Amino acid sequence: MPNDRASGGDVYSIPPDSHSSNSEQPALSELSPQDKPWEKHRAFTDRVEDFYRGSEFHHYSERVHFCSELLGFGLISETGNAAKLKLRSARFCRLRHCPVCQWRRSLMWKAKAFKVLPRVVEAFPTHRWLFVTLTLKNVPITRLRDQLSEMNRGFGRLVKLKAFPAEGWLRSTEVTKGRDGNAHPHFHCLLLVPRSYFGRNYIKQSEWVSMWRKSMRLDYNPILDVQAVKQGNKPMELVPELLKYATKESDLVADREWFLELTRQMHKMRCIATGGVLKQYLKELEEEPEDLIGESESGEMDEAKLYFSWRRKEKKYRLTDTSLR
Ligand SMILES: [Zn+2]
Repeated sequence: MPNDRASGGDVYSIPPDSHSSNSEQPALSELSPQDKPWEKHRAFTDRVEDFYRGSEFHHYSERVHFCSELLGFGLISETGNAAKLKLRSARFCRLRHCPVCQWRRSLMWKAKAFKVLPRVVEAFPTHRWLFVTLTLKNVPITRLRDQLSEMNRGFGRLVKLKAFPAEGWLRSTEVTKGRDGNAHPHFHCLLLVPRSYFGRNYIKQSEWVSMWRKSMRLDYNPILDVQAVKQGNKPMELVPELLKYATKESDLVADREWFLELTRQMHKMRCIATGGVLKQYLKELEEEPEDLIGESESGEMDEAKLYFSWRRKEKKYRLTDTSLR
């Protein structure tokens, strides 16, 4: 490892990324293949910075610019295994549509859900789980905010219907970009239903459609998908689909005007909601996670600290000359 000083205990303060010779330093993705996703997400963040520059959100472009520019990793040696890197420090812009930040947020939400859902399964051992996707016709991106508000009201009416079978729910909002450039907002819902749902209280797909249509006060049948988690299987398998990004990266960076309008339309909109008996377990998911680094609880000790800085031109993180205790 070229970074011998890291274990020496001395403090050096050579500014990162200051010399051209740094390009010979190893890249993060070479030293730690599991951290390869950093480069993909951070490259998208550069695009988002470009989109914000010169717009009414110019101040966002500065925040995004410095987002996760320098990553500090602890080096952990595991007996019998190769050394492993663990993220210890980074500065995040925390903007909703920053590709790095939404990726980190999604990781934190997933980790939380994987931890908490087994407790729900234990508390409701005979209950079953449904995964329901609620959609509507696409809308022009300039109408997205109104549409999302209307969907929130409609969902509020849905869960109050007498026939609504779930005792608890977790809902996430996703907005994708349709081929026609319109926005396609939809809800992914994890529903906790009593066992009787698969007996006398079963709801057919067509009935689900009419419940959603009625709640949304539509004059057409909306597209709706209901899947049941097989008996004995765990709701955790749905977590990746449920808590993925609000808008996928390829849609974020496809079109500048669309992206800027998305920023306007989604301002301060909440994307995750919980209700019923699941609220007490999963309410934390409704808030922005404070920790985007992912604190280790295993008490692993760092043998050294390694810093990697973002190289905009080559779209890689490279080891810096900076070494700290
Ligand atoms: Zn960010």
